[in-house]
Amino acid sequence: MTPRRGVALLGATGSIGETAQRVLRRHPDRFRAVALTANGNQAALAAAAAEWAPAMVGLVTPDGSALPASWRTGAAALLEAVRHPDVEIVLNAVVGAAGLEATLAALVAGKRVALANKESLVLGGVLVQRAARAGGGEVVPVDSEHSALLQCAAGRVGGDGEGLLPLRGVRRLILTASGGPFRTWGTERIRGAQLADALAHPTWQMGRKISVDSASLANKALEVIEAHVLFGVPYDRIEVVVHPQSIVHSMVEFDDGSVLAQLGVPSMELPVLYALSYPDRLEDSGVPIFDPVASSPLEFQPVRHDAFPTLGLGVAAGRRGGAAPAVFNAANEAAVSRFLAGSLEFRGIPGTIGAALDALADHPADDLPALLAADAAARTLVKEYR
Ligand code: NAD
Ligand code: MG
Repeated sequence: MTPRRGVALLGATGSIGETAQRVLRRHPDRFRAVALTANGNQAALAAAAAEWAPAMVGLVTPDGSALPASWRTGAAALLEAVRHPDVEIVLNAVVGAAGLEATLAALVAGKRVALANKESLVLGGVLVQRAARAGGGEVVPVDSEHSALLQCAAGRVGGDGEGLLPLRGVRRLILTASGGPFRTWGTERIRGAQLADALAHPTWQMGRKISVDSASLANKALEVIEAHVLFGVPYDRIEVVVHPQSIVHSMVEFDDGSVLAQLGVPSMELPVLYALSYPDRLEDSGVPIFDPVASSPLEFQPVRHDAFPTLGLGVAAGRRGGAAPAVFNAANEAAVSRFLAGSLEFRGIPGTIGAALDALADHPADDLPALLAADAAARTLVKEYR
């Protein structure tokens, strides 16, 4: 019998966390949940803890009501979960920059990080690579596009290229984007979009922050940077194409011109499962079945950069390097929280991010304290921006 691999589920109560619980339920002979964490939502965490009976439970921000005595609290609970000796795989499904230190700690401890928290790689790309080298840990992406790229490039990972999972013989990465809820909207209508419009994603059910990111295409900017950090492919060889059906999850073009795509019904179950089982594939009948006829036709369209300026801002920040990606990420998080709270219009998101980049892109970025300072400065600037 294969020994069961211990999993720490960070962000257990979120959209990806719940998907991961569904996947784990189908593979009790392969995996066991050793640690569970969440930010708030004590009731959902308690329900998950009752089901999985994990060795450790962490609630980062308790609401003041009574907690089981064994539960850990505060941000350090994430690090404790990651370092638990029975944890082999850390599924990082925390939203935002708050996930970075857990990613670093897991890699330093030599563990696999099944990474949904793309913000980790955008804020701390260089540090994540250093931590992986120092500790021998590995990152396997959960983001559907990057899971697709990894699946297409299977057998061509490794070597002395840049990146966490350097690819051999690859000429171009083509990331697909659904285009979000505003794909067909005119530029002026997008500028006046309301919160409910932004949260109504046509093909994916996700948490609120990534839903807004998908509406502005900030999410695709984060994903271009994520692809660069993961696979070491230069920015001028990473492209984005709009694909409204979200069936082709991304494509890899090889040196001989051949292009492989990975297809499937939009569901995060397969990317989560693959990040746990990589490089193997596990038998699983729960992942939705793909029907090519029912999914037809598949369309591809260019990105409308005039209507979605946040994508260009983010990719330019990635190319610039240094503190710029960290500033882009933090400014975007702060702008999205203002939009969610009703104190910033949708049209204000790219403007505030641009202002933060103008002021802070040259901030020092040599180590974690410097990057966290750049992150904090960008958040302050966006909070006070009028
Ligand atoms: P979500 O808001 O539904 O869930 C976030 C989880 O993180 C919750 O369990 C929450 O308690 C926890 N959390 C929030 N703030 C925290 C903090 N400061 N410290 C510790 N824990 C905290 O978000 P989601 O949609 O599940 O997304 C999670 C991550 O996965 C994001 O990075 C997102 O970009 C990425 N992702 C999500 C999807 C998707 O389909 N939802 C797809 C691809 C990538
Ligand atoms: Mg994605």
